[in-house]
Amino acid sequence: MKTYRVAIVGAGPAGFFTAQALNNSVTDERNFFIDMFDRLPTPWGLVRSGVAPDHPKIRTVTKVFEKIAAENNYRYFGNIELGRDIHISDLENIYDVVVLATGTSLGKKLGIPGEDLPGSISAADFVPWYNGHPDYVNVNPPLTGKYAIVIGAGNVAMDCGRILALVPHELNSTDIADHALEVFHDSAIRDVTIVGRRGPEHAAFTSPELRELPKLIETDVFISEDQIDDAIHRVGARLESEKDLRANLEAMHEMSKAELRGNERKLSLAFLLTPLEVLGNGRVERVKFAVNKVVDGEVVKSDEIIELPCDLLITAIGYEGAEITGVVNERGRIANNEGKIREGVYVVGWAKRGPSGVIGTNKSDSSEVVKKILSELPAAPKGNVDITEHLDGEKVVTHEGWSAINVTEITAGAERGRPRRKVVSWSELLSLGGVKST
Ligand code: NAP
Repeated sequence: MKTYRVAIVGAGPAGFFTAQALNNSVTDERNFFIDMFDRLPTPWGLVRSGVAPDHPKIRTVTKVFEKIAAENNYRYFGNIELGRDIHISDLENIYDVVVLATGTSLGKKLGIPGEDLPGSISAADFVPWYNGHPDYVNVNPPLTGKYAIVIGAGNVAMDCGRILALVPHELNSTDIADHALEVFHDSAIRDVTIVGRRGPEHAAFTSPELRELPKLIETDVFISEDQIDDAIHRVGARLESEKDLRANLEAMHEMSKAELRGNERKLSLAFLLTPLEVLGNGRVERVKFAVNKVVDGEVVKSDEIIELPCDLLITAIGYEGAEITGVVNERGRIANNEGKIREGVYVVGWAKRGPSGVIGTNKSDSSEVVKKILSELPAAPKGNVDITEHLDGEKVVTHEGWSAINVTEITAGAERGRPRRKVVSWSELLSLGGVKST
């Protein structure tokens, strides 16, 4: 039996699905010993810090992750950061296979004047703030004005818009961070607009997410019936052949015709608006947009310009990966050939293909890369040096350490009828995780 040692950097869905695919390919001749590293004390990546708190079903995938983590061939090294505590070259020296599953954590910028005014933040900061990521506790988005604009017509924009627009008691029984729950309860925001630069037919939302909007208890949803009718007219026969497009337009069409309930809270979806400038005296006050039209299938600017009032601007226009020493960052992701970076080094998930797809997309993506890994395994495993010889053991949050954090959070949540109450401070996470000094 040959035992290959695999380092997976990043304990999010792509990392865990890679471990799962490796476990599924154990034979009588070979097995795998998996060490998973994460810079946070807590695993689960975007399932913990990205998935919206009012989407608990999506989080149930953690049961799969916990099963993998409970296997004897798995070790967790939390609080270990690539480039700070360990380098890719160290991993390459020790492991037979290194897999980067480091995601794409930086929000893309619009690149327009005024974007950096106070009151303008990226979804890449807003989402981990409300989800209790310890690095984002102090983001403090100002929810003190009436108007919020979310730029982007994808599911992240939808999450941000929905969370801002719903009545906060809908969040009381979720695992949203306590600090965010408090701020949402005091929020003055009553009018949220999600803005797409192209038409409804080009929106990247998915229909289940659209169909959730009418279920918001105390929020009225506005979509222009004309914009949807025009889009349906433009797509013509494609409506029959393209299932996802049809499902999206049907969902939006129903909402555009629905009777408004007269709620104080409003959520609007607006299309064909390109942001040109963020305006305001010392902070965000308005956003200037070019009104677009669709001509022969192409989205082009018209001469019309509009300004919308805005007290909070969130940009949700995609993500890119941070630079990692030892690999090439190419257009926001790690340069790779179908998941291979170089001999023995691979990449999976958003770091590989960019920020696309739902959590489950990473399962098939990781399986494909694992097939490649298997076809390229060295004839003989490397040897016996253990990574613990290179690491300060005092710093590591192990799987047992994470389990202690997990139990603390779940117990604290149960007292209030919530799935968990997240620990959000680094020092508390490390101390619960068994790290004595920081
Ligand atoms: P996305 O789906 O790629 O959407 C990005 C949006 O930003 C698009 O509407 C895009 O418009 C727009 N955009 C890009 N650059 C822009 C610019 N300069 N100005 C104005 N708009 C711009 O990305 P995402 O929303 O970040 O989501 C990432 C992935 O996570 C997606 O696959 C998504 O489905 C998934 N996700 C899933 C869920 C869920 O299942 N509930 C929740 C959250 C995220 P164009 O199309 O015109 O470029």
